[in-house]
Amino acid sequence: MTQLVDGRAIAARIAGQAAAAAAGLRAAGTVPGLAVLLPTDDPGAAWYVRAIERAATRAGVSCQVHRLAGPAGSAEITGRLAGLSADPAVHGIICQTPLPPGAALATVGQAIDVAKDVDGANPASLGRLAAGLPGAFPPATAAAVLEILRHEDVALRGRRAVVVGRSVVVGKPTALLLLAEDATVTIGHSRTRDLAVVCREAEVLVAAAGRTGLIGADYVAPGAVVIDVGTNPVPGGGLAGDVDAVAVTGIAGLLTPVPGGVGPVTTAMLIQHTVQAAGQAAAR
Ligand code: NAP
Repeated sequence: MTQLVDGRAIAARIAGQAAAAAAGLRAAGTVPGLAVLLPTDDPGAAWYVRAIERAATRAGVSCQVHRLAGPAGSAEITGRLAGLSADPAVHGIICQTPLPPGAALATVGQAIDVAKDVDGANPASLGRLAAGLPGAFPPATAAAVLEILRHEDVALRGRRAVVVGRSVVVGKPTALLLLAEDATVTIGHSRTRDLAVVCREAEVLVAAAGRTGLIGADYVAPGAVVIDVGTNPVPGGGLAGDVDAVAVTGIAGLLTPVPGGVGPVTTAMLIQHTVQAAGQAAAR
């Protein structure tokens, strides 16, 4: 039996908690504010930013979207992020990817104040996470993976976890968060030999490779918890995960679907981080 995780229900619970905290802050005179910089006209990014705006509004978080007209360069993006970092009405900042050619998130993200870096885009935030220091937010997707595991009461201490993918925004921070929970963590990537054998060792398997259906039946141990972070566009519309859900059903113990798994929880974590950042700013 494979149990499917209801990501939308988990997201609703997180959003409810964030809305209650936001209401408390508003009553005390602080309106939590999120700013999203949208540096391209990528349709997928525009769709995602609308979902963030809706979630923010529902939670009582004010959300401003800054669309950059025309092809923006690194200098313009950095300048806008620095301006938002200095704005006291802004508590959380997201620099939405993809970025224009020539701009790198690791570079422009350095202009985001770490205290407002609610999606962990500044390498300094990842550094704090790696060093086990407080005061920074992990990327929302990595936080969402851990939140799902917590919600589903998945024990992590001493268990074998494999993360497939080593990107700075998903794979590495997810591995660091699992390590902080005392899991024994292996990171797989495109150069990993015998990836299926490595993945079959996992009691908790996180797929974040961006390859449709990469994780088949031979990658999954019986009863394993499988978290599918992949969101891969399907020709003709829709999204597919990195996990071949049909093949692993009946083998995995727990599986997050795509869509309706990690995606909605990620959006909820962005809102939760923004409300937390607003609370920390109000307390300063
Ligand atoms: P990325 O920067 O392209 O990184 C992909 C990683 O997967 C790389 O480390 C790469 O290895 C590895 N990889 C690629 N093909 C592989 C293969 N055949 N076998 C093993 N490893 C392989 O992507 P990302 O930004 O981390 O995103 C990963 C996926 O998550 C994408 O589908 C993305 O759309 C999705 N995503 C979802 C959410 C959400 O909220 N649900 C948020 C962010 C991203 P190398 O390092 O060796 O190249």
